[in-house]
Amino acid sequence: MSGAELTCQELVELVTAYLEGALAPSERLRFEHHLAGCAGCTAYLAQMRQTIALLGTLSAHDIDPEAEQALLVHFRNWNRQ
Ligand SMILES: [Zn+2]
Repeated sequence: MSGAELTCQELVELVTAYLEGALAPSERLRFEHHLAGCAGCTAYLAQMRQTIALLGTLSAHDIDPEAEQALLVHFRNWNRQ
């Protein structure tokens, strides 16, 4: 699965690994490529960075599943415009 564009949902799933520097170089490239063309995910990443700055740390367990779902719905609507 190299070369394919990430979807917004995949990006959201990878965001903690990205911020922890845990992505493989090829995954990180795809992540950053998606970010470059997606305002919604850029805003999401900025929000995650801010959350981490506030909490000092972040794990996948800290993400409220309902909030994540709401974001994904938001992204879907965004893409439709
Ligand atoms: Zn996106």
